[in-house]
Amino acid sequence: MEKYLSQLNEAQLEPTIQKEGPMIIIAGAGSGKTRVLTYRIAYLMSEGIDPFNILSLTFTNKAAREMKERIATIVGASEAKNLWMGTFHSVFAKILRIEADKLGYPSNFTIYDTQDSDRLIASIIKEMSLDKDIYKYKQVRSRISSYKNSLITVRAYFQNPELKEADAMARRPRMGDIYKEYVERCFKAGAMDFDDLLLKTNELLTRYPEVLMKYQNRFKYILVDEYQDTNHSQYLIVRALSDKFQNICVVGDDAQSIYAFRGANINNILNFQKDYDDVKVFRLEQNYRSTKNIVNAANSIIDKNQTKLDKVVWTANDEGAKIKVNRSLTDGDEGRYVASTIWETKMNHQLPNSDFAILYRTNAQSRSIEDALRKRDIPYRIYGGLSFYQRKEIKDVLSYLRLIINPADEEALKRIINFPPRGIGQTTVDRLIVAANGYKRSIFEVMKHIDKTEVNVNSGTKNKLKNFVTLIESFQVLNQTADVFELAEYVTRTSGLITEFKKDATPEGVTRMENIEELLNGMKDFVEGQKEIADTTGNLAEFLEDVALATDLDADKGDTDHVALMTIHLAKGLEFPYVFIVGLEEDLFPSAMSMNTRSELEEERRLFYVALTRAEKQAYLTYALSRYRWGKLVDSDPSRFIEEIDEQYLDIVTPIEERRFNPMLSADIFGDAEHTDVNPNKIRYKPAKQPVFKKGHTAKKEPQKFQVTTPKNLKPVAKTNSSETTNLFDSKLVVGNTVKHIRFGTGEVLKIEGTGTDTKAEIKFQHGGVKKLLLRFAKLEVV
Ligand code: ATP
Ligand code: MG
Repeated sequence: MEKYLSQLNEAQLEPTIQKEGPMIIIAGAGSGKTRVLTYRIAYLMSEGIDPFNILSLTFTNKAAREMKERIATIVGASEAKNLWMGTFHSVFAKILRIEADKLGYPSNFTIYDTQDSDRLIASIIKEMSLDKDIYKYKQVRSRISSYKNSLITVRAYFQNPELKEADAMARRPRMGDIYKEYVERCFKAGAMDFDDLLLKTNELLTRYPEVLMKYQNRFKYILVDEYQDTNHSQYLIVRALSDKFQNICVVGDDAQSIYAFRGANINNILNFQKDYDDVKVFRLEQNYRSTKNIVNAANSIIDKNQTKLDKVVWTANDEGAKIKVNRSLTDGDEGRYVASTIWETKMNHQLPNSDFAILYRTNAQSRSIEDALRKRDIPYRIYGGLSFYQRKEIKDVLSYLRLIINPADEEALKRIINFPPRGIGQTTVDRLIVAANGYKRSIFEVMKHIDKTEVNVNSGTKNKLKNFVTLIESFQVLNQTADVFELAEYVTRTSGLITEFKKDATPEGVTRMENIEELLNGMKDFVEGQKEIADTTGNLAEFLEDVALATDLDADKGDTDHVALMTIHLAKGLEFPYVFIVGLEEDLFPSAMSMNTRSELEEERRLFYVALTRAEKQAYLTYALSRYRWGKLVDSDPSRFIEEIDEQYLDIVTPIEERRFNPMLSADIFGDAEHTDVNPNKIRYKPAKQPVFKKGHTAKKEPQKFQVTTPKNLKPVAKTNSSETTNLFDSKLVVGNTVKHIRFGTGEVLKIEGTGTDTKAEIKFQHGGVKKLLLRFAKLEVV
């Protein structure tokens, strides 16, 4: 037991074994804050604290899972299972389900994701006949979100003339009315949006002292990671829950506060000492993650911020390589530079893809990088785009399923009432919405009693509405006995969804079908897992709870080897041996939208600090002199952040292709004085005019610009054709085959049973144990 404590340095050990009382650890990146939290939980448990009494709040569910796994290796898996760990949203969604009736919600309330909220808001704006160019639904949503995170309820809004005035000044005098309507509609639909999960928790804890007491007694020890990025609503929850025992331990780094734009309040960390009595403050100074070069460079950057706590960060690690700065002519060249560097480094040092991460300021930047990685056959994964569960076809299926559980769910209903098309037009839907609002009932109820209502629709339409109600009700009956897989299979078939998607033979259509198959596979897996681990049936309600808050960061089970692509915001808390920070250009990073005030610029700089401190061994900073943005080629200047780094830590490289295609050089050679800007740091690159070909003449493909030399002593790595998936359904698969599955990795076929579309194989996977898979769904590849 004591052994694990020896894996901490002295400064880390102190807060780890400080059992009681309020405490805060403020420390720079990579200094072991998350490690201290993890070990502290293990320590508390070894001291006899019941895991049921420990609540740990993390930034992602993935982080929670990793912490739990680590703790399990120290104290044992069965004990670790009982810990409450997760994001604020996932932990409090669970509590809200238990206490839902107190707030007038059903315990099976739907969780609206951002897309659902957007659609509802857009629909309200339309119903109110407001100008959608002034009332942009995304802006309206973010405004509503900020009210909720500041605990401004609808009533509070209308009692505060200043808020009304501010919205009127922003040319949106009806904001309050939209807010009111939105809240009422969510309530009527039995739905909470993401912000509600925090807002309603606060409501619960303030309005019901006995509930507050229950959870105060339950969570005797509370730990919060990334405390610098908590918003007001989260702050109040933590405050209330920890008030009785005051065993609260928060860790954070003010230099890594990057969510102010979403309401995070850095004062939460700065004021912690005022909020509790006798706060112990701990500081960690030794960075274990990165080389000296990276640590020092990061320090030199954050030094430029005026608003900061004084902190020391040093490392005993090696000096390491200098940070490479690379200039490219275009974003395409930048992508090729990144891809070829990864390829070369991988070959030279025989590294897995997962050693590399590419970080950018905005999601849109991934495209040129992706193109280049694909050309080099480097597997990659984008995090933080649409999560799997937000894809159109998946949401369609999930909407049917959500409606089965909660027929009041307005967004689910609107999505599928006429999909696949069943002759229920938009006019009818609009009339149903108006009627539902008038009767103060759900749309589904109005449809169910359509004969008795005064909704103006003809008898043909009435029948269609009734048929839809009957269809959903028949699913509800099946749901009482079937598990989620059986149910979903039936629903997708009977609703006509499968037929509808199969009509589309384009590659996108095929991908949609594959995604639905993948969803069904996931359900099968879920059902088996539930039966094994949780001893429950794996029903629909359990499944929906599981996916409602899933992000694609959580979906990563770590069993495929790929380069990670993500925004810097998402990379918080993570680490990778090799990190590329791309698109370091003025107006992109720092973002043009964040340069109005010093505090905005300082937040951008903190973001850059976060990016740089993700790197363990080597960091690369890249920028392009011109880039396609909004469909146009625009010139750009290198980011000020590059200049702000102390030069001694940088290694400025000029790429081969620029030397070769440098228009300055070609101007010299050809005496063409088009480029008069002589500052080599600011070469204005204009792409050469494309030659015009006569009709019938096909242009030859451009040869690849890069010639990467492979060291002679390296054998080429055997390559499997990963894009080829065999359809094994009428099966050439035999017992003993080694197969590969996209989620479970490689495995051996133990048994084959059934015939035709029902053929199943029992496979023992390296990760995930023995699974029985329906071959028509499982995308297996024989290796
Ligand atoms: P961030 O601010 O980026 O969230 P952090 O302060 O949470 O960073 P950790 O992620 O806990 O830092 O630690 C950074 C790395 O250093 C991890 O790989 C961790 O395992 C390692 N590490 C931390 N402390 C020690 C130690 N005492 N001995 C060895 N390795 C350590
Ligand atoms: Mg951390």
